[in-house]
Amino acid sequence: MDCIFCKIVNGEIPSNKIYEDDDIVAFNDLSPQSPIHFLVIPKRHIESCNFVDKENAEVVGKIFLKISELAKEMGFDKSGYRIVNNCNDDGGQTVKHLHFHVLAGRSLNWPPG
Ligand code: 5GP
Ligand code: ZN
Repeated sequence: MDCIFCKIVNGEIPSNKIYEDDDIVAFNDLSPQSPIHFLVIPKRHIESCNFVDKENAEVVGKIFLKISELAKEMGFDKSGYRIVNNCNDDGGQTVKHLHFHVLAGRSLNWPPG
């Protein structure tokens, strides 16, 4: 499958990984939009939020648990952060492998454009 995030998972494309276990990987975004900007993804290919189902939903909980832990470890839990998932064209999804952006380190605007 021609998916850049699957290639990051299997090491075909290098990335700056900040966490990895059997199910998920977190790595810095190539084009950071805030001082801290990383992505957390399931290792298994799930195309988008539309493809989260009863069979694979557990990994989404694992991703949110890890984000909560990383926020504390990296020290931005108190100042705050934003978790973003973009789905399909209107959501601005450019990579069709489920991923959650974690943005921190500056005050973020709301609403998004
Ligand atoms: P989306 O727009 O799909 O929500 O987000 C995709 C994100 O993946 C973008 O923020 C983009 O900068 C990031 N990205 C795209 N290609 C690569 C890559 O090869 N390596 C890394 N680390 N990030 C990437
Ligand atoms: Zn993939």
